Amino acid sequence: MRIYVSADMEGITGLVDADDVQPGGRDYERGRRMMAQDVNAAVRGAVAAGATDILVNDAHGPMRNLLPEDLDPAARLIRGRPKHMSMLEGLTPEHDAMVCVGYHTRAGALGVLSHSFMGHEIEDIWLDGRPVGEIGLAHATAAAIGVPVVALTGDDRACAEMTAWDAGVTTVPVKYARDRFAAELRPADEAHAAIEKAVAAALRAPRPTAAAQADPATLTVRWQSASVAATLPGIPGVTSTDSRTVQARGDLPSLYRQFVVWMRVAASLTNQPPYC
Ligand SMILES: [Zn+2]
Repeated sequence: MRIYVSADMEGITGLVDADDVQPGGRDYERGRRMMAQDVNAAVRGAVAAGATDILVNDAHGPMRNLLPEDLDPAARLIRGRPKHMSMLEGLTPEHDAMVCVGYHTRAGALGVLSHSFMGHEIEDIWLDGRPVGEIGLAHATAAAIGVPVVALTGDDRACAEMTAWDAGVTTVPVKYARDRFAAELRPADEAHAAIEKAVAAALRAPRPTAAAQADPATLTVRWQSASVAATLPGIPGVTSTDSRTVQARGDLPSLYRQFVVWMRVAASLTNQPPYC
């Protein structure tokens, strides 16, 4: 059984503030160790369920948060950037299931460290007219590749966002949002045990075939900067719908990859790097 783990940071046990998740932040060094502990709990759960091949993609910010020496040796790690598929780099149809660790709510939600891919630069994203963030876009793209998301960890709001998208996904709340930078935390040992147990159970359960997204799909992104929205239609297939909004149509793995290019353009125009 081959398992793919996409590991973000904002939804990790114990972390609530930019200082916890951004390199140079006062508690970042501690945050990256906490991230490894949540990922390792998921890896132990996968091993317990019979996984023979586990690939972890560090999917946050510089994508060099996880220290290789901190990672359970049962897993291999994709580290660094750029990566053409960003948070989904290395996900292939050969994987039997995907697990999202440390995910967070979309821009505008009152979840811990909520945003969609770029902090202030992206106001909203829609997939076929439905509001979507990193959770829904990862789920839909994985489904298009043929891999079901079976488990997700994050704050309670991220879990609810996942459930609203696909009620069949097992969710593990590791903290309960009080506001965007405040949460009531589950004790770390309790959270780690819950992740391990839930991932093992989710992988032992019969897996549904990933529900295929309508093909082609339409991806719409509303930017903070009109300059970004004015530049992107220079890419063939991208159209603007108003002064801050662009969209494109295509199959989902390709749209996700193109969206990563849009973020590169936005980063160069705004000097704000994507941090996912
Ligand atoms: Zn992140």
